[in-house]
Amino acid sequence: RRRRTEQHKERIMTKEEIVSAHGEYNLQSWSKQKGLSPIAVRNGDGLYFWDMDGKRYSDMSSQLVNLNLGHGNRAIIDAIKEQAEKYCYISPGYASESRSQLAKDLVSFLPDTFGKIFFTNGGADANENAVKIARMYTGRHKIFSRYRSYHGSTFGAGNLTGEPRRYPLEPGIPGFVKFFDPYLYRDGLDETDQEKASKQYLARLREQIIYEGPDSVAAIVIETVTGSNGVIIPPSGYLPGLRALCDEFGILLICDEVMAGFGRTGAMFAFENWGIKPDLVTFAKGVTCGYVQLGGVAVSSKIAAHFDDAVLSCGLTYSGHPLACAAGVACVRYYGEHGILENAKERGKTLSSLLQNIQTAHPGVGDVRSIGLFAAVELVKDKKTREPLVPYGKDPEGIMKAILRRLAAKGFMTYSHENMIIVAPPLIITDDQLVEELAKLDEALTEAGL
Ligand code: PLP
Repeated sequence: RRRRTEQHKERIMTKEEIVSAHGEYNLQSWSKQKGLSPIAVRNGDGLYFWDMDGKRYSDMSSQLVNLNLGHGNRAIIDAIKEQAEKYCYISPGYASESRSQLAKDLVSFLPDTFGKIFFTNGGADANENAVKIARMYTGRHKIFSRYRSYHGSTFGAGNLTGEPRRYPLEPGIPGFVKFFDPYLYRDGLDETDQEKASKQYLARLREQIIYEGPDSVAAIVIETVTGSNGVIIPPSGYLPGLRALCDEFGILLICDEVMAGFGRTGAMFAFENWGIKPDLVTFAKGVTCGYVQLGGVAVSSKIAAHFDDAVLSCGLTYSGHPLACAAGVACVRYYGEHGILENAKERGKTLSSLLQNIQTAHPGVGDVRSIGLFAAVELVKDKKTREPLVPYGKDPEGIMKAILRRLAAKGFMTYSHENMIIVAPPLIITDDQLVEELAKLDEALTEAGL
């Protein structure tokens, strides 16, 4: 036993070794590889995590907007351990308690039109499989998705993605068509223009569908609330109108709830905020809060019934991994038993009013958007013209990076996209913590001369 402990000790790396091996042996996502100096993390608890020097950070983006229940949640950790003691893996063709339970739980949270779940490893392959299911069900091939969207970085999901992260995949998959998002602020519109704007956006989309040939369109894929591209919240009337448009042409509506789902907006699924029922829902992130990776496609009973007599040509070795599903069961139980959705909704009100104060106080804050604990702060050169602080796709002077560095120095960790700072803390955050953290954002913007 002592020998084992000694061997274990030998494996412990110093902070410097961890950081240097990270740079030497890892290829880090979405980064130029030279000169990276990531924080080496020691441990996490609730809203916070600590680096190896003991500095505390508040996780104001819930990592990649997935750690909805924060760090170190005992119920999830215990559920994973308990499942690991029984068996860690059994293939998707076997019935497994955690997989069966999670599918049953998820269907119970979805609208009554939903019947079954196809589990995946994460969000990108959830979207890929949703597209396959839509094509198999409708017999059509075209897929519409939006420019300001991120649906994952694998080949198919990367082609659904509309923003520049899709460029390396071009020329891309034929039949993947893009349309514009309802982005009122960037289009020079105001809150009072919502219904009228929705009608105009949808009229343009209807025209586009007609030009593409409605009988060839299998599905429209949207992020219900656009996440990484700046928390773009659909104006009133937009989603019901989109649902009606899909029905008119027999097109399936796929809501990507990978980021917006599982309480982020104060509802279990974001589409509930507008009272619509999609045909397929893709999810990941908050279903396990990142404790073990998992995603999936929720399928309406009608579409699921199609596969009673037709082969579902989808499959992954790790579909419904027992450890991930055990984490998922613990998470969804925790959401219910600890009033997490209510907390997201209530704390969301505090976040919204703190952000509005920041917008009023800072000439460089053009717009603040939030729904539940999902927010973006849009920085501009001029409030009147709404000219973005950094031009689209470029930040040659590293202005946004410098703001993030200021925030990190104050212990406020998040990320930015274009000219926007994302604020999406764990759904367990308190009002006091929000006040403390938003004061840091206020200070950092003042220091940056905004
Ligand atoms: N869809 C949305 C809306 C996302 O935000 C993301 C990831 O950020 C994905 C899909 C891809 O999920 P994953 O990284 O788990 O493949």
